[in-house]
Amino acid sequence: MKIVDKLKKEKVSISFEFFPPKTKELEDSLFKTIEELKPINPTFVSVTYGAGGSTREKTRDIVKKIHEETNLTVMAHLTCVGHSKQEIKQILEDYKNIGIENILALRGDIPLSFDKKDIPLDGCKHAFELVSLIKDNFGDYFCIAVASYPEGHPESPNLERDIYYFKQKVEAGADFSITQMFFDNSYFYDFLDRCTKAGVNIPIIPGIMPITNFNQIRKFASLCGATIPEDVVKLFEKYADNPEETKKIGIEFATKQCEDLLKNGVKGLHFYTLNKSDATIKIYNNIKALL
Ligand code: FAD
Repeated sequence: MKIVDKLKKEKVSISFEFFPPKTKELEDSLFKTIEELKPINPTFVSVTYGAGGSTREKTRDIVKKIHEETNLTVMAHLTCVGHSKQEIKQILEDYKNIGIENILALRGDIPLSFDKKDIPLDGCKHAFELVSLIKDNFGDYFCIAVASYPEGHPESPNLERDIYYFKQKVEAGADFSITQMFFDNSYFYDFLDRCTKAGVNIPIIPGIMPITNFNQIRKFASLCGATIPEDVVKLFEKYADNPEETKKIGIEFATKQCEDLLKNGVKGLHFYTLNKSDATIKIYNNIKALL
């Protein structure tokens, strides 16, 4: 089923992101995680894609397995960087043949290991071109999601330009959006205001990254331009040598973040699970009275 249709029916959607595991053992562990998260009855789950095609088969295999072996609605991430239009069409054709109806259309980042001369000249330079390619070749078959950035994408020259390019993806046919992680909800509320002013009115689901390993999340955040407020940094640094306490305060912090979002009327929460169920289940149990 198309996610956009499910979103219309849900009071608050809950969804989970996974990444394709590298080994059979890790794949078994991911499917255990999925089983543990299933009772939450997520609106959808999604599987990431390695920019430049590094996880092409793996993403497809995991998406297919979730689709065939669970009753979950699954969305495949697809990055266009490093692919020719022909390759992208083949990937989409393949998804259509196995019954996948939901695609998160992304540009991706060119991997450092990538040889620039291998970048196809007839590819898509930006995500909006990928959205257009999907629409031009598959009409309304796919429900298309796109990424958005409450603090602006790191390459955007300013927030006005960032919204302008986000709107371009919406006008090309995006049905809904999931945001980059953020750790101060005011960025998200400000972003929603800017979207409203710009006339962007698709559903925008905040991406929630529970902090369970501070150094790891701090690295992710700095790579994607998400600010961790100074008081939050101080709080987690205090427990740098205590993984159990870090996890506990990480769950408390994400719970408060979600509670505030729900009290302010958000209609969905998308959890970056890092293929683990524990923190997400605890946060869900803490907030379920508000759903
Ligand atoms: P775009 O929308 O193309 O934007 C990229 C940059 O180009 C921005 O600075 C934008 O302002 C600028 N831009 C856009 N259009 C134009 C234009 N017409 N002219 C000039 N500049 C323009 N990465 C992965 O590799 N795999 C994943 O599975 C993955 N999943 C993600 C899921 C979510 C929810 C999010 C938020 C991000 C994800 N990413 C993933 C990261 C994403 O690929 C990177 O953030 C990437 O740098 C930008 O992708 P995009 O689709 O937002 O690109």
